[in-house]
Amino acid sequence: MTGVLPVKENDDSDKRQGVWNEIKQMMRSSYGEDIYSSWFERLEYAGFAGGVVTLSTPTQFIKHWNQNNYGNDILKRWQSSDKAIEEVRFAVRSFPLKKADSGSASAPHKSGQAQTAATAPRRQIDPPSAPANSAAGLEGSALEPRYTFTEFVEGPSNALAVAAGKKVAFAQPGERIQYNPLYVSAPVGLGKTHLLQAVAQAALAKNPNMRVLYLTSETFMYKFVSAMRNKTTLTFKDIVRDIDMLVIDDLQFLNGARVQEEFGHTITSLLDAQRQVVIAADRAPADLDGLETRISSRLGGGLVVELEVPDYAMRRKILDRRIATQRAQFDDLDFPDDVVDFVARSVTTNGRDLEGAVNRLVAHNQLTAQPINIKMAENALRDLLRARETKKPKIEDIQRVVSQHYGVSKQDLVSARRTRTIVMPRQIAMFLSKILTPRSLPEIGRRFGNRDHTTVLHAVRKIDGLLEKDAQLAEDIETLKRLLDQ
Ligand code: ADP
Ligand code: MG
Repeated sequence: MTGVLPVKENDDSDKRQGVWNEIKQMMRSSYGEDIYSSWFERLEYAGFAGGVVTLSTPTQFIKHWNQNNYGNDILKRWQSSDKAIEEVRFAVRSFPLKKADSGSASAPHKSGQAQTAATAPRRQIDPPSAPANSAAGLEGSALEPRYTFTEFVEGPSNALAVAAGKKVAFAQPGERIQYNPLYVSAPVGLGKTHLLQAVAQAALAKNPNMRVLYLTSETFMYKFVSAMRNKTTLTFKDIVRDIDMLVIDDLQFLNGARVQEEFGHTITSLLDAQRQVVIAADRAPADLDGLETRISSRLGGGLVVELEVPDYAMRRKILDRRIATQRAQFDDLDFPDDVVDFVARSVTTNGRDLEGAVNRLVAHNQLTAQPINIKMAENALRDLLRARETKKPKIEDIQRVVSQHYGVSKQDLVSARRTRTIVMPRQIAMFLSKILTPRSLPEIGRRFGNRDHTTVLHAVRKIDGLLEKDAQLAEDIETLKRLLDQ
């Protein structure tokens, strides 16, 4: 950077704001409404200094996404109207903006999490000859070498998913696929990514000529958008037509009508051609926002397996693995057994938290030379220990509990019937769906017999208003919440 300081920085600020507004409109017309509203609409001009324009983003994800995928394009657009601009940076709004120095806030993902980036380094574990995790010139997301079946701890909470994953990974070429698609659903940290990558890596290890493509839905969106931008006449569907196995992680992040539509075409054509599809998401197929029913029912039409919270024995094994890995690095590491037991009993949420706990204790130990013991662990892990496992109910749980409580059938709840005995429980169920699940109003409406989101909003407001006046109703709601908590 040459450090040309703008003389009239403040005076130019309005001008730059105006330029940015124009750039946004240009991006809107070149990328279309969908992409615009996903990635650019909420970018704001935040300042200029030393040749660097800073744009603020509402989330870390949008920041990374823009940085990796649109940074150059945005820079070029700025430069064509303002020669003083040498660089464009992104910063998340909730943090204080760093004045035009260091991009350090945007440290790249640790290798263990590199799956998000389309620009992530190629996986390093490929046997040199294997055309691994790419197909038709399409590069997959990075795979993490340790995410294999061998490293995955099995137990009652994931046995079915692991068995299905192995079946898919070790299928003979041409073998009729039983579980297609294989759909893994679980909340964060329970091992979806690990399991999916294990499937991809095992399939490749068994048959290096197999065309396996592992993509996060972010990469999928990115590839799709670049294909459009490059005016490739080939659709995504054509590009992936020849692959043997498509593995897509975190499908809940796939957004944008056109991207979802293209995803639908892709999945349909792969399934029709009997190619294996493996999907993971944090929710069931029917709960994916915005996907056409035809597609979500296709996704649910193979085998849907859930990963559940690991039991004590599994938690211990996950900890033991992690500690063994750390020992390989710090050979004098003393991680006593009673602390392993303490962590296994108290961190009951998921694999990610267990690994995080080990990492943190080891880091404390290495940095402060404090021995690892229960007292130290209690202190260092305070937040993890407090995070009591709270189960989030799903809309179908709410519908079940409400229909049992008020003695109406679930069909009635989602029907068009307007009798008072049904309307009230239906409104209560909608209200609970809004406050207890992350689902949007349109989504809730859809799940209650395709009602409009304004109907849901009306129900939520009505129950909310009644709660203050109607003690019986308030008590009912408390009972229902308790029932859902179990
Ligand atoms: P998700 O994708 O569901 O959020 P991940 O696959 O990223 O979860 O798992 C989080 C971390 O916990 C990973 O490092 C993973 O290796 C570890 N983990 C989760 N479940 C298991 C398991 N059953 N055995 C071994 N490691 C696990
Ligand atoms: Mg994951």
